[in-house]
Amino acid sequence: MASDRINRLLEVSRGLSAAGDMEKYLQSILSAATELTGSETASILEFDEAARELRFSVVPWFHRDAIQGVKVPLDGSAAGWVFMQGKPVIINDVGVDARHFRTIDLLSKFTTKSLLGVPMLLHGTPIGVFEALNKANSAHYTEEDVTILETLASLASAALQADRLERRLQGSASEITELDRLKSEFIAITSHELRTPLGLILGHATFLREMLGKDYHEQLDAIIRNAARLKEIIESLSSVDNYQSGVARLRQRKVSMARIVEDVLASFQSMADEKGVKLKMDLSKHDLLVDADGSKIAIALSNLIKNAIMFTDKGGQVLVKAELSPGYVKVSVIDNGLGIPAHDLPRVFERFFQVESHLTRRHGGMGLGLSVAKVMIEMHGGRIWVESVEGKGSNFTFLLPVDLQSAAQAEQPFHF
Ligand code: ADP
Repeated sequence: MASDRINRLLEVSRGLSAAGDMEKYLQSILSAATELTGSETASILEFDEAARELRFSVVPWFHRDAIQGVKVPLDGSAAGWVFMQGKPVIINDVGVDARHFRTIDLLSKFTTKSLLGVPMLLHGTPIGVFEALNKANSAHYTEEDVTILETLASLASAALQADRLERRLQGSASEITELDRLKSEFIAITSHELRTPLGLILGHATFLREMLGKDYHEQLDAIIRNAARLKEIIESLSSVDNYQSGVARLRQRKVSMARIVEDVLASFQSMADEKGVKLKMDLSKHDLLVDADGSKIAIALSNLIKNAIMFTDKGGQVLVKAELSPGYVKVSVIDNGLGIPAHDLPRVFERFFQVESHLTRRHGGMGLGLSVAKVMIEMHGGRIWVESVEGKGSNFTFLLPVDLQSAAQAEQPFHF
């Protein structure tokens, strides 16, 4: 092949990786095909899997209105033959070859005299056909023309595939965004709708408990306890959602972390006793004051301690440590319980995630506790993470900035 033709092919192939505008690039492939095979025009037909027919997808501008998108049957067309056989075809006089699909000439007011077609392959599977028409001076198409068109066809296949993948990726990305929006909307509406009837159940059950004698306390307590549990779940759901839609507002003031740890730990003493798990506390002597909404930090800490007790067997222990680390207060909830398999660790803070192997040993829980804790801590410009070894135990740690203002300035993850 003459070196100028090789150079031109190289130039087109180099363009593939740099191609920003796919349509423009495919047009440049058509021009190269026309020029290098000495043809009057060229076009690309893509296979439509669902309709099982070929369709003109890239055509020169002067044919665009007439044939862009026009369908070509697999039977009774030269392009169909190339596609089905997976082989090139040269027809030097279409007048004497029945394979030519004449409708296109009528539509485009073009007279096809000779034709070269090659299959476009992707990983060995045909995805379309590349055609060049009317070699100049009624000359015959040559084997070299076939090689050139095949080279350009594989570049066009790669370009089309890249374009398809990109479009699919964009489609998936917007589908994910839409799904996430729907999920948030569903959570917001459901939790809102459930709150009112649940409030009524709790109110009336509490009233009945007062009115009816001790004989009914057991049943009414069960109703109140379970309704309160439901209320807790709904609050968890909506607090995650509130944060994400930016509704949550912090009521922050100077609070003592030591005090929060003591209070929360005390509220879990009876649960720990029932389970036979020892609760321990290790508080630094420093003033552990932080700028925070104490109720939200207490929710986060409660969720960590509740899990630690729940996933630790009888005889085990849960240690809550609080200490000062420069600019931060560091709190760790350390248990010597079941631990978390390494492959599940990155997902434990996701909404609705539960470790598969723990499911059989669980009572209640929806996989929300840790995502709520994460939201609460990050709202304060803090960070939370876990270290765990399956069968040995877990260490959930969070850091809270002592001074919220400077934490925000230091570009901590701080979003409302
Ligand atoms: P749930 O409300 O269901 O407990 P969480 O979001 O609080 O959900 O926790 C998610 C999952 O992480 C739990 O279901 C459990 O499998 C695992 N997990 C959480 N804390 C611990 C822990 N201290 N030890 C072992 N596994 C834990």
